[in-house]
Formats: sequence, C-alpha cells, structure tokens
Amino acid sequence: MTDKELIIQLRDELRQHNHNYYVLDMPSISDYDFDMKLKQLQALENQYPELHDSNSPTQRVGGAVTKNFQTVVHAQRMYSLDNSYSKADLLDWETRIKKIVDGPIRYTCELKYDGASISITYKDGVLFQALTRGDGTQGDDVTANVKTIKSVPLKLQGDFPNFFEIRGEIVLPFEGFNAMNEARVAAGEEPYKNPRNTASGSLKLQDSSEVARRPLDCLLYSIVGENTGILSQFNNLEKARSWGFKVPKEAKCVSSIDEVLEFITTWDQARHDLPYEIDGIVVKVNDLQQQAELGFTAKAPRWAMAYKFKAEQVSTLLNHISYQVGRTGALTPVANLEPVALAGTVVKRASLHNADQIEKLDVRIGDTVFVEKGGEIIPKIVGVDISKRLAKSTPTIYLSECPECQTPLTRKGGEAQHYCPNTMGCPPQIIGRIQHYISRKALDIEGLGGETVALLVNAGLIKDAADLYTLTIEDVLPLERMAQKSAENLVNGIEASKNISFERVLFGLGIRYVGETVAKTLAKHYKHVGALSEASLEDLEAVDEIGVKIAESVYAFFRDDNSIRLVSRLVSYGLQLELSEEALANQTTLLSGQRIVVSGVFETISRNELKALIEANGGKVVSSISAKTSYVVAGANMGPSKRQKAEQLNVPILTEQEFLDKV
Ligand code: AMP
Ligand code: ZN
Repeated sequence: MTDKELIIQLRDELRQHNHNYYVLDMPSISDYDFDMKLKQLQALENQYPELHDSNSPTQRVGGAVTKNFQTVVHAQRMYSLDNSYSKADLLDWETRIKKIVDGPIRYTCELKYDGASISITYKDGVLFQALTRGDGTQGDDVTANVKTIKSVPLKLQGDFPNFFEIRGEIVLPFEGFNAMNEARVAAGEEPYKNPRNTASGSLKLQDSSEVARRPLDCLLYSIVGENTGILSQFNNLEKARSWGFKVPKEAKCVSSIDEVLEFITTWDQARHDLPYEIDGIVVKVNDLQQQAELGFTAKAPRWAMAYKFKAEQVSTLLNHISYQVGRTGALTPVANLEPVALAGTVVKRASLHNADQIEKLDVRIGDTVFVEKGGEIIPKIVGVDISKRLAKSTPTIYLSECPECQTPLTRKGGEAQHYCPNTMGCPPQIIGRIQHYISRKALDIEGLGGETVALLVNAGLIKDAADLYTLTIEDVLPLERMAQKSAENLVNGIEASKNISFERVLFGLGIRYVGETVAKTLAKHYKHVGALSEASLEDLEAVDEIGVKIAESVYAFFRDDNSIRLVSRLVSYGLQLELSEEALANQTTLLSGQRIVVSGVFETISRNELKALIEANGGKVVSSISAKTSYVVAGANMGPSKRQKAEQLNVPILTEQEFLDKV
C-alpha cells in the first residue's frame, strides 16, 4: 500500500469509528486505539502536506480563528414555527389545512430541540458551509466551528444528492453542560446559566479549538432542496440518517390529531429522561406534495405546528431566604421553600441569583412564589402571586453583612454579586479554599474529605492548606468519628500529596480563573513558582492562551501577602512548586541551534513526545527539509519524496533509536 492509500484508508476508518461513536452511540474501537490511529494519520498528513483535506478526521480539533463572521443570505429563508398550546389549537390547525389540501393527511411528530438552529450545505458529499439562522433571511457563516462538532459528518456515505441543505439544532446535552460548569466553578468562574444559551454562544466563539473542546451535539430534522427524490418528511429523516447524520429515533409518523396528542402526552412526561432539553413537539404534514400546496405565511410554514410544553411551574410558599458564601467570598441568596413536587423531583430550595433579581421580582418572605424548572439544574423563582401576598409583608432588604463573619459586604462595579471581603477570616471561604485544594483534580488527598476539612477548621486546627502539613495523628484523633486507623490514613494521605505535580498544586491554590488547563499552561511555561510569581503583567499576557483577565488575577495573587506566605510555606513543606526533576532533567541545551525535521511514525515514542523532547533539549522542530536542516528523524512510513530531498541536500537521516541515543 502506498502512503497515499494508507492516508485514505485511515481517514475512512476513523470516520466510520467517529460515526459509530457520536452518531450511533455504539463505539467500535477503544479510545486508545482510536488515538493511535489518529496520530498515525496526523503524522502522514504532516509528511504529505499536498494531500491535505480540510474534512479529514484530524481536523476535528479545530484551530481556525474567525475574527468577524461573514454574513450570508440563506438560499431558502429559515422560517419560524407557529405555536399551539392545546388540543383545540391543533384541531383548529387541522381544520385550516384540510380546506387547502385534499385527501387524508399524515403527520410526522418530532421533538422540538432547544438549542441553536443551524443550516448546513453539502456539495458532492462534503460539508460545504454552515450558517446560523440569524434573522431568518441571512445568518452568520460558522463553518469552522460546526466542523469541530463530532456528530456532524464532514463526508457523507450512501446515495446523497450532489447538493442540498440540511437543517437541525445544535444542542449541549445536560451531562456535558454540567461538566463544563463544574470546571468553571472549580476555576472560580460563574457557571453558565443554561444549555441553550451556551450552545448558541459556542457557535460564535472566535477560536474553533475552544468550540472543539465543548461537548456539543447536532440533531438534524429537515432536508431543504427540490430534487432529492424524497416524497415525505419521514423518509427525509430516514434518508438523512442513512447518509450519516444524527437524526433522533423518536420521530413518529401518525395519521390523526388524536395520535399526535398521544405523542405529546408521552413526551411531556418522558422528556425528563432525555439527555438534552426539548421545549415542545413539532408536528409536520408528512407528504411533501401537500406541504408544497400549503406553503408559507409571512412568518411560518402552514404545514408545521409547534406544540409548546408548559414550562413546569408550581406555586409554593417562600419560608425564608438564606445566604451562602462561596470560597471566593461571593454571596448567593437561596430561597427556602415549602417542599413541592416539580418535574419529577421534590423542590425545597431555589436560586435567587443576586440582589438585583430579588429587587426585580420584589420577592418577600411569606410570599407565594412561582417556581420553574428550565434547563438549569437548580429551579428558579420566576414570579410572585401578588393576590396571595400578606398585608403585613415588607420588601426584602438584602444583607449588608456577611452572614458568617459579619464583615460588611462589598460589591465591585459591574458585578452582580455581593462579596464578603474578609478573605482570611471568613469560615466558609477558609473551608472552601482548603476543600478546593484537596479536591480530586488538585491534590486529591486520600483519607481527607470536605466534611473533615470543615471539622478541622472549626476545631481551630487549620486555617489554610499549608496548615495541613503540620497535622499529627494526636491532633486529629479527638475529632468526631475519627479512629486511629482513619487518623493514620489522613496523615499519610497528606504526606503523599507532596508528590503531586506542580500544575496540580498550582490549580489547588485556587487562583481565580486558573482552572486545570490554565494551571498546566502556566506550569509548563514558567517551570517554577518563583518565575511565575515574578512575572510582569505583560509577560503573563504574552503566554499562549493567557488573556488579560487571567493575567491580572495571577499577578494580583502573587502580590498578596497572604498568598505569598502560603506559597512559601508550601515550598518549605516540600510540595512540588516547580516542574519535577524528571521534567527538568530533560531540559538541556544539547540540541541548541539544531533545526530538526520529524517524519513518519514512531515505535517507542509518540510524535508529540518526540517534538517535546527536541524542544526540551533546546532544538527547534521545523516542518520541511531545506539546506538549513540539521537532520531528519525518520520513523516508519517516511515519504519517498522527503527521503529524496534529504539525500539531495545531504541532510542526514537518523532512525528513532539513533536520535534517542543522542539525548
Ligand atoms: P421558534 O424559535 O419557537 O419559532 O421555533 C422554531 C425553531 O424551532 C426553529 O428555528 C428550529 O431551530 C427549532 N426546532 C427544534 N426542533 C425542531 C424540529 N424538529 N423541526 C423544526 N424546527 C425545530
Ligand atoms: Zn464573611
């Protein structure tokens, strides 16, 4: 097999695995094997830039940056849908359309996904362009971003038309949404409010590699185009599925409004078990000929009707408002409710967000309030039943002092949240910071949980993360539910955390906006906490992927006396606040001044590791062979043209082993 054939075969193979995993939900290869094959393909593609294909599976990671999204006029307008809320509405609709078309009408019932609508065109089976809905007449070209969504096929299979447009919805499933929010909260950032806004916001991100990191999904529901040879909406869906699109299986074709209502009743209940949010059902006349006869009003097709679920809402009594203080000092007001059943769960608490929200709704203790459960995990209060308000009720006065330490609260300009500024003395902030420090992705201390941290702080045994390293078995034994064995485990776990890598300790410090990824970047760039703490603002901002907000936060952290003391104590207790010896030992100047080309696939080391090794030793990795190239490190499958060029220019070719012997 030639390299070119191998590239094509790998692309096909990986495309099929992607489809099985993201569209069919039936993985057909281990993650590891997938990564290996992807690496192999990447290596070959690097070697043969002339065989570049923007629809190769390697392109899913994104990289393209769009500064201004191009506005494009839709070939066919993207209409809105008429809404209905009852059986009567649907029967009215049926009467109206029966006046226009003859014969029996069948309906396709579909779920109404709550995300961002998207129009994608395919030319010769290859993704050509993706547009947002915009105002319906013209939308934004978000092709680069949409290409990173794994369930969107870049190349089609089967008997697809040469040119067609397909429409659907980009959604963010709950699971991925929650994971994103966990990461944000861990980095001291505000969580996203709901999956729909986050999905549509993601489409307009400038950096497509950021989009690639978001667990977005794309569900398709309609093919637009004249000459597809398809006769009904339901067949449309089946066809689209056969070409490789993700078309949910829930759609159903029925022959009466009564059956439509049955479908609605079923999904009004079952929607709570779906992995993503829906806000209703869309009913479409199935026959495309009948659809054509019905046509459009100024706003929407006559042949379709959305049935909107009532947002699940209940009313209940607001017993009192409590306030939570987070590890960053941010205050969150929480409504404590008379327990009430809502969307399959019993709700006792609801978020009130901040002082502005309370004022806007004029929520008062003793009010009967309306509670709704939307895409958010925590239900929210959407209004007050004024008719039930007690005569003696008074407006809610927002707290002026921290409920935990009585320090007057502050509110920074532009921020919605109130803060307790008593960073060092406020118990929930102290506890929250240490809990973050010991959390799984930070120091992950075995034998120590969040509750024990609270006990230790409340017993006056610790005030910050560094104090953990002074604890003895005798210190902790008197704590509630602490036995000899668990005390030993705890102390041993703390001791073992001294081996945790620099990047995780850095993350554990809880610097605002420094999440896992940023911590990794900073650790790698600065190598040592000393260098990081001395870095100027400009220097920080110059680091890849570090923006102003992060730079300012890091800069301020290392100029704060308390943080300085904490870090230096952690150093003195032997925590890893620099890259490990192993990582550093590999940093040499052995290859300085050398320009090295890496080509082919390697056995004992991955291509990326090899490049990292060259850079760690002061060498420079270059992509193409020239007279200035010092040498080529060649693995299996080095292309013949490259080899020829190296020979022509007298550039030495080293095997993997010959290179590894050098460093
Ligand atoms: P609305 O925004 O309420 O006017 O509803 C119209 C929108 O519903 C369309 O723009 C689509 O983005 C969205 N939608 C979600 N699911 C479907 C579906 N199965 N069929 C048609 N439109 C849908
Ligand atoms: Zn406080």
